[in-house]
This record gives sequence, structure tokens and C-alpha cells, in this order.
Amino acid sequence: RAKADGRNTARFFNKHLKEEESLRLMLARDLEQAISGDQLRLVFQPIADAGSLRIVGYEALLRWKHPTLGDIAPDLFIPVAESTGIITSVGSWVISRALAAASSWPPHMVVAINLSPLQFRSGDLADEIIEAARRWNVAPCRLELEVTESATLLGFQRDNVLVALESLKNHGAKAVMDDFGTGHSSLSNLKDFAFDKIKIDRSFVASMLTHAPSVSIVKAIIGLGKSLGLTILAEGVETEEQLADLRAWGCNQVQGYLIGKPAETIIGSSLAMPVSSNINSFTDTL
Ligand code: C2E
Ligand code: MG
Ligand code: MG
Ligand code: MG
Repeated sequence: RAKADGRNTARFFNKHLKEEESLRLMLARDLEQAISGDQLRLVFQPIADAGSLRIVGYEALLRWKHPTLGDIAPDLFIPVAESTGIITSVGSWVISRALAAASSWPPHMVVAINLSPLQFRSGDLADEIIEAARRWNVAPCRLELEVTESATLLGFQRDNVLVALESLKNHGAKAVMDDFGTGHSSLSNLKDFAFDKIKIDRSFVASMLTHAPSVSIVKAIIGLGKSLGLTILAEGVETEEQLADLRAWGCNQVQGYLIGKPAETIIGSSLAMPVSSNINSFTDTL
């Protein structure tokens, strides 16, 4: 019986893998049309100062509405775009649209853009970003470039990423390590890359209230970041309780559904609504 169960399990996974593979092939093919066909859009999630909850800027997050499959999550299609190389054109589209959007925001607001390591391959990514900022009249000091640590650590593109981030920093832009704590060599990445900010992965924030080790980890990351002079942001803040703890531990910035969900436009719900104390930051920006 155990053997039969094992075979069924194997068959289930094989079938599942094949289906997943054909889905990936289909997505890879359809992504080519997504840019020209107006199926991509950006949404913007607020980044707030932890103490005052004042909005300091927005992170651009990519959305794809597939003509037949509907909304597809970036966690699913970004890896596909990376595997086919089309991430370069998708990434360029994101850079130019994010800067176009930021050009109409209050001038003190930062715009955070997620970058895939493959975008660094050509070696002219820094120039492309600075040129787009110039075209849209967005001061480079308003730019925050997010790189996930899994990306930087692979060795893969590591030197290109180092050089490009250095060049962007020389123009006044900030380098941000995204999803901190989920990679495999966090500390050597912190040592080698001159990051200005780290974003604590939301998996740690999510388990903070129920899992004592997560509390220790979050506190330790905040302490480490502080001693390195970095800005610390906690991702995925969903409750007042999480916010209170993060503030007490000295976290500088927060992002999450409590402060605002990603939204099409920054005028309206994402700024005005979610947290009562947030209404102040809305009127402050007007
Ligand atoms: P990320 O950069 O770490 O973005 C945070 C993700 O967490 C977003 O998911 C956001 O919608 C979600 N999130 C924010 N606050 C909360 C919360 O309070 N609770 C929960 N449960 N989730 C929250 P999203 O938009 O699905 O993006 C997933 C990932 O896809 C991003 O993670 C980023 O790594 C990647 N991505 C998104 N847009 C781009 C892009 O333009 N270029 C590249 N290369 N990657 C992108
Ligand atoms: Mg990010
Ligand atoms: Mg993240
Ligand atoms: Mg992520």
C-alpha cells in the first residue's frame, strides 16, 4: 500500500510539473505581447516613516492582466521573464513608467523600483536609469533601487550589480536590499554592497506575533542595520500591534496593508484611508 501511495504521489508531482512547465512556456510566449498590448501596468505601494506614518514615497509593483488567464502574480511571471531574457524589455518599461509617474508626485517623494539581476547584464543599466530620471525631471536622489538578496548572492551578475549600484549611488540614488534574511549569505552581501537601506522580509514580520525567534531576528536585524548606519524598513506590516513593536525596536520605515495596499494612483485611497493617523500625512502632502 505504501508503495502504491508513493507511486501515486510521484505521478501527481509529474503531472503537476508538466502542467507547470506548459504554463511557463505559455506565459513566456504571451509576455512578448504583454508590453505592446497594454497588458502591463504599475501599481504603487506607500512607504511610510514608522514614527509619524508620513508617506515618504512609493514602491512600483508590476501587474500583468493576461487576456485569457486574468491577473498573473509577479512572483509567477518575473521568473519566466528572467528565463527567456524578456525581463530586459519588461524592466525598461518599468523604469520609464515608474519615473513618468514619479514626475507628477510631490517632489520630496521617493520612487522605489525593483530590479532583476538580469537587467544588470548589459552593463548600461545605471545609464539607462539616470537618463530616464533626467528625461522625466526626477532628481536621482529620489530614486531607490531594490535588489533582492537572492539575486545579488548568486555570484551571477555580482560584479555588474556592484558596479551599477556604485554608479547610481554616485548620482545620489539609493541602493536597497529587498527581502532581507531570505537569501543565503545576507551578511557577506551587506559587507560587499554599499546598501543604504534594508527591507526586512515580510515572512519575519508575519510570524513576529506568534513566534519568539522571529522577534529576536527582527530585533537583531534592526540593531545590525542601525550599527551600519542603514535605514531599516519592515515589509508586510498588517496590524497595529506589529507597528507598535517595530517602532519600539527602532525600525525607521514601514510598508504593508496597514499603511496602504498597492494602488493604481497615489491620489486617493492609498494615501488617505487605511490608518486613522495616516490622514495627517495625506493633508501634509497636499
Ligand atoms: P517585493 O518587492 O518584496 O514586494 C512586496 C510584495 O509584498 C508585493 O507583492 C506586495 O504587494 C506584497 N505586500 C505588500 N504589503 C503586504 C502586506 O501587508 N501583506 C502581504 N501579504 N503582502 C504584502 P507583489 O506585488 O505580488 O510582488 C511580488 C514580488 O515580485 C516583489 O516582491 C518583487 O520581488 C517582484 N516584482 C514586482 N514588481 C517587479 C518589477 O517591476 N520588477 C522586478 N524585477 N520584480 C518585481
Ligand atoms: Mg521590492
Ligand atoms: Mg520585499
Ligand atoms: Mg519579494
